[in-house]
Amino acid sequence: MASQPLPKVELRELGNTGLKLSCVGFGASPLGNVFGPVSDDEAIGSVREAFRRGINFFDTSPYYGGTLSEKVLGKTLKALGVPRSEYVVATKCGRYADGFDFSADRVTKSIDESLERLQLDYVDILQCHDIEFGSLDQIVNETIPALKKLKEAGKIRFIGITGLPLGIFTYVLDRIPAGMVDVVLSYCHYGINDSTLEDLIPYLKSKGVGIISASPLAMGLLTENGPPEWHPASAELKSACRAAAVYCKERGNNISKLALQYSLSNKDISSVLVGMNSINQVEENVAAAVELATIGKNEKILAEVEAILKPVKNQTWPSGLQQS
Ligand code: NAD
Repeated sequence: MASQPLPKVELRELGNTGLKLSCVGFGASPLGNVFGPVSDDEAIGSVREAFRRGINFFDTSPYYGGTLSEKVLGKTLKALGVPRSEYVVATKCGRYADGFDFSADRVTKSIDESLERLQLDYVDILQCHDIEFGSLDQIVNETIPALKKLKEAGKIRFIGITGLPLGIFTYVLDRIPAGMVDVVLSYCHYGINDSTLEDLIPYLKSKGVGIISASPLAMGLLTENGPPEWHPASAELKSACRAAAVYCKERGNNISKLALQYSLSNKDISSVLVGMNSINQVEENVAAAVELATIGKNEKILAEVEAILKPVKNQTWPSGLQQS
């Protein structure tokens, strides 16, 4: 009997870029050992499995694992030999293991270093990483114009900005010509415990920028194993998420599946970036997306989990210089 083709995740358009991203994106920060050690075999196995199941979008940064994530992703992509036109790589600039530097000089050097580590001739998206830690006026007046030159030089195809406080995006987008920033990457703001990105979506669409939402599992809060030591959430938020995870498990459900399905449900979000470091996680996350597309999510358990998380709904944590 012929074997069934593997179910694959759907592709979604990214703003005005013409790129089509897998709705589940591969967050490569775990490849920098950010959530614990990952062997070369696990890294290569996870990325291979991602490709097999239709994931075509990979996000990294020089900051993750102090350049390790970029190196491991580069080595892995090379080893797998997938044609360059079949995947989309996003990396970042301005945030490094030794601090922040959004100067034109630094980000211009940074892309060459990233390309070398990634073993690529160009990246699809270069994003200013966590801009709330820099001067937003420098981002507008110096960093983004420098990235525009890199675009013209063919080293990058599209420009993005990332960070936690949502106000940083409006600050920047209100001060630059339309079309200069192609992509916004927001994290920890479109999940079951915090969905504040939703209010910003009409604005982002009106600006024509593509929307990527990262950390649907709230950087480990919405997992059975819980978050890593360094997680910045309050004890109250951690405890509520732990209670929600236990509640799901006791009823034969998995909090991570539910959380990912919640984030994937909004089709204005082109890709939901999940950090993955094992074949099993890739399989589970793709299965969650396929189940959502075919059967839908379990609305009853979702409502129950939302009720558990209600006291901490939209609770976040400080990040950056707290400007605007
Ligand atoms: P996440 O919410 O995706 O959680 C990742 C954690 O969940 C890891 O410990 C991972 O091993 C675990 N996990 C993944 N799938 C699982 C499953 N099915 N079951 C149980 N556990 C599972 O958080 P993240 O990794 O921080 O975010 C995803 C990606 O988004 C990052 O890797 C990065 O590429 C990007 N990101 C960017 C920024 C930024 O630019 N400022 C910030 C955060 C995240």
